[in-house]
Amino acid sequence: MATTAPEPTSEETAVEPNFSLALNQEQKDLVEWVHGFAEGVMRPAAHEWDEREEFPWEIVEEAAKIGLYGFEAMGQFFADPTGLSMPLVSEELFWGDAGIGMSIQGTGLAVAAIVGQGTPEQIGEWVPQCYGTPGDLKIAAFCASEPEAGSDVSAQRTTAKFDEATNEWVLNGQKAWATNGGIANVHVVTAVVDKELGSRGQAAFIIPPNTKGCEQGAKVKKHGIRASHTADLHLDDCRIPAELVLGGKEKLDERLARVREGKKAKTQAAMQTFEATRPIVGAQALGIARAAYEYSLEYAKTREQFGRPIIDNQSIAFDLADMAMEIDAARLLVWRAAWMGRNGVEFKNAEGSMSKAKAGEVAVKATERAIQILGGNGYTREYPVERWHRDAKIYMIFEGTSEIQRVVISRAISGMRLR
Ligand SMILES: Cc1cc2nc3c(=O)[nH]c(=O)nc-3n(C[C@H](O)[C@H](O)[C@H](O)COP(=O)(O)OP(=O)(O)OC[C@H]3O[C@@H](n4cnc5c(N)ncnc54)[C@H](O)[C@@H]3O)c2cc1C
Repeated sequence: MATTAPEPTSEETAVEPNFSLALNQEQKDLVEWVHGFAEGVMRPAAHEWDEREEFPWEIVEEAAKIGLYGFEAMGQFFADPTGLSMPLVSEELFWGDAGIGMSIQGTGLAVAAIVGQGTPEQIGEWVPQCYGTPGDLKIAAFCASEPEAGSDVSAQRTTAKFDEATNEWVLNGQKAWATNGGIANVHVVTAVVDKELGSRGQAAFIIPPNTKGCEQGAKVKKHGIRASHTADLHLDDCRIPAELVLGGKEKLDERLARVREGKKAKTQAAMQTFEATRPIVGAQALGIARAAYEYSLEYAKTREQFGRPIIDNQSIAFDLADMAMEIDAARLLVWRAAWMGRNGVEFKNAEGSMSKAKAGEVAVKATERAIQILGGNGYTREYPVERWHRDAKIYMIFEGTSEIQRVVISRAISGMRLR
């Protein structure tokens, strides 16, 4: 039997840089700064904006003023070589409030698509326009889902036809559930260019502000994250210049030609991108879970029944112990996946999906337990835990449902094209 741990192979050491759980001073300062905004600005405003069910422009404006929302802020968070800054910021913001947090971070979905698929020129021109400036705030929307195409993105019906005469794309269709949809300055919309090729015949397009034929449809009245705006988007003969397909028209034509010849499309690269963004969504869920845990822990220590604090009952104490364990476990998954994404480490077992699914489910369980610990108070709008429970549930649905994450994980671990 070996008495010492086996030496890592040179291949392992070459691809996997060090991973540390110890935050550096810069990261600790970042957490403290964002926490200050979450506690001082977001928490006091959370109930009001949840009730109003409107995009909280004033609060996002405040975030922009202090450098927490904007082009430079995103660049700074993503520049952290450990990959942890973005999840740290997300956890604190969503600890403050998930609806307002989504209004601050929702633009990031469109930005991720532009940065992930755009040319350097497109990135340089459009990412700043997604955010605007403090005083002239802008937001962006990423619109992929459709009434008939949620989990099954290959079922999209929105079309993009190229008009040779005018050198323009003409988009037609209906998008559903778009965060910031219709109120955004920039919309990034996916559409079918060649129906015969299924999801490999799709592309993403940038729709500039005030483009004719791009209109908001019905605004969605939601269960949770109600301070964020969600709406349908209608595209009726919406014309945009040829160069506004992400990655450029030439690259798209080459890609489609390769697929038509039966050659492999770069699905592996797309998969890596999704895996790298999922821990950020997981961190948002973690923020909600932590809020509920901290609140119910304090409540359990101070609320007395039968002459003693309710935490003195093992069933309550064990619930809180479970919450603490599960939140830590989810955070470890989130941080690992964020670090892997930033450092280009291959997601062999869909670790990004694992982190998102786990954190989303932990948030739903933790907030449900928090309501129980608060008893009747937990069930009223006088206390925040019922709002956190409503907010948490979306994390099992958007950005890939919990079931779809399990499809991705089971395919990754088995190497089989499971359904
Ligand atoms: C508040 C909110 C904000 C959103 N923001 C955006 C946005 O900004 N941009 C955007 O493009 N979309 C957005 N969405 C859409 C979101 O991504 C979809 O709702 C999600 O992908 C699920 O699609 P669906 O609602 O059509 O459910 P369906 O796909 O119809 O799924 C219904 C149920 O069937 C299950 N299911 C489906 N297929 C399988 C399978 N193969 N195996 C096992 N179970 C399966 C699902 O897990 C789910 O439980 C948002 C949605 C909401 C509610």
